[in-house]
Amino acid sequence: MKIGVPTEIKNNESRVSITPAGVYELTKQKHEVFVQSNAGYASGFTNQDYQNAGASILESIEDVYQVAETIVKVKEPIEEEYSLIQENQLLFTYFHFASSLQLTEAMLKAKATCIAYETVQDEDGSLPLLTPMSEVAGRMATQQGAKFLEKPIKGKGILLGGVPGVSPGKVLVLGAGVVGVQAAKMAAGLGAHVTILDINMKRLRYVNDVMPSHVVTEFSNEYNIRKHIKTADLIIGAVLIAGAKAPKLITRDMLKEMTPGTVMVDVAVDQGGCFETTKPTTHENPIYIIDDVVHYCVTNMPGAVPYTSTLALTNVTFPYVMQLANLGWEKACQENKSLAKGLSMVQGDVICPEVKKAFPELL
Ligand code: NAD
Repeated sequence: MKIGVPTEIKNNESRVSITPAGVYELTKQKHEVFVQSNAGYASGFTNQDYQNAGASILESIEDVYQVAETIVKVKEPIEEEYSLIQENQLLFTYFHFASSLQLTEAMLKAKATCIAYETVQDEDGSLPLLTPMSEVAGRMATQQGAKFLEKPIKGKGILLGGVPGVSPGKVLVLGAGVVGVQAAKMAAGLGAHVTILDINMKRLRYVNDVMPSHVVTEFSNEYNIRKHIKTADLIIGAVLIAGAKAPKLITRDMLKEMTPGTVMVDVAVDQGGCFETTKPTTHENPIYIIDDVVHYCVTNMPGAVPYTSTLALTNVTFPYVMQLANLGWEKACQENKSLAKGLSMVQGDVICPEVKKAFPELL
């Protein structure tokens, strides 16, 4: 199979979808890999590394889309890429269709076959291709939140860990999944008071078992959220309903109940966000302020730490890439039920039930 690895062109996205180690394995199996020049540079891989592993380097993104049967990416195609996609080309990447009508329409129009990383699902309901990026984003959420709590960067001027004789900051985490637990772990490590809310009692029991005693669990409902936002310094949104838009847990009116300089990090922004006032932001302009509350809503947080993120992502995507290359998408999806769950579109038809539900007008 001919596999294309374009350079990611979304703002400040520096990850790459296949490493030289992956190219080496694919070419060993007689597949051809076409890597856009410098696609791996920001993740620490040179063109020479790719060539040594057996890849061909192509100068332009157009060349890569032209020659490849399968495109393996990191982020969803952005507008400049829509017209490059070939009819019946297979795209294996993050899509987050349910949060973008424009992208959904564009992929339908291109008649592409799309397998979305974020909905590949194991039998136990876990999302193996989201997990490592959620681990990165969760840890970063606390790091970024702590930074924007500093006064010169618009926050309250609170050091999350406090100091001897001064109370630490308060962190409220909405969602005790992968992002939430990693965020809570980092915040607890800094010494902050952490409250973590979820609607899933199994997750709350797990958190209660593994976290130190200054991490407190509570059931997620509007009453408890309204109670905690009044005193929280940092609020981290980390909820997910697989394939669907995130529920709006913090509404516009709730901002008035927070103290000025509170920082809200909405990690769930890629699913539409779990705060009503969420608007996607970029690493270049990561924050905006509404009612004195600092909002950080960067859609590709792991893109800022590409060395860590590329390795963490490709560790889990590569076995699927290899299966798609060896078997083709139809057979691979028949044999691998987890992969089949990621099949969102087939040559202009929507397959994923959550995407159908999000955009009934398209059917
Ligand atoms: P997850 O499935 O592991 O956890 C989500 C948790 O949310 C679950 O425990 C679920 O029970 C809980 N939940 C659902 N409804 C809730 C509610 N009303 N109140 C409280 N909790 C609720 O998911 P995850 O891997 O932690 O991902 C969380 C979000 O982060 C997703 O939207 C994901 O796409 C996003 N994400 C964003 C970035 C980024 O760069 N911005 C990176 C990685 C992940």
